[in-house]
Amino acid sequence: MRIGHGYDAHRLLEGRKLILGGVEIPFEKGLLGHSDADVLLHALADAILGAAALGDIGHMFPDNDPDTEGIDSRVILGAAVRAVREAGFDLENCDVTVIAQRPKLAPYIEKMRENIASDLGVDVSAVSVKATTEEHMGFTGSGEGISAHAVALLS
Ligand code: MG
Repeated sequence: MRIGHGYDAHRLLEGRKLILGGVEIPFEKGLLGHSDADVLLHALADAILGAAALGDIGHMFPDNDPDTEGIDSRVILGAAVRAVREAGFDLENCDVTVIAQRPKLAPYIEKMRENIASDLGVDVSAVSVKATTEEHMGFTGSGEGISAHAVALLS
């Protein structure tokens, strides 16, 4: 068994779409980034790569590459899981926590799990997505940004 951890944070700005776990969520702001800035999928992809000691998504998809500007982060997640499978690993399960003061994410969690399970080629029971606030503390609490932590277990 091999465990990996991933962390990511992006800034919330007006004029951007909010995409988390591959779901477009109606909100007055969205996350800024070179890609679609899906902070949840970035943390998860880094956890998967980290478990296999295969680096991180910044290495696979540099944020100064004009060819990947606006890239769907589900493509990034798919590339990460492909890389670990090519290295001989299977994904057992993963668990992600998104930290956002607003909007409420509960209505979108099941769709996120389905998207992730589909991209990873695993049953939805192997994919956990949770959301929390930080009680108005810090940059997530003030609404300046959204962050995510993820762990993944490979065998
Ligand atoms: Mg990121």
